[in-house]
Amino acid sequence: MDKEYRLGSKVIMKKQHPCGTNEWIITRVGADIKIKCIYCGRQIMLPRIEFNKKLKKVVTY
Ligand SMILES: [Zn+2]
Repeated sequence: MDKEYRLGSKVIMKKQHPCGTNEWIITRVGADIKIKCIYCGRQIMLPRIEFNKKLKKVVTY
């Protein structure tokens, strides 16, 4: 499945980050998912349901 992820997975989100990429690394998995932008290093936290909706693709499981 291309929608399975874990800590350290590289993912592509549907919406692009202002810095110009949409690739993120998952840095925390729980009720909330924390992701870190691979370009600018900014981290954001999303409720898992919201994350699943915004997730486009898992690049590296
Ligand atoms: Zn960024």
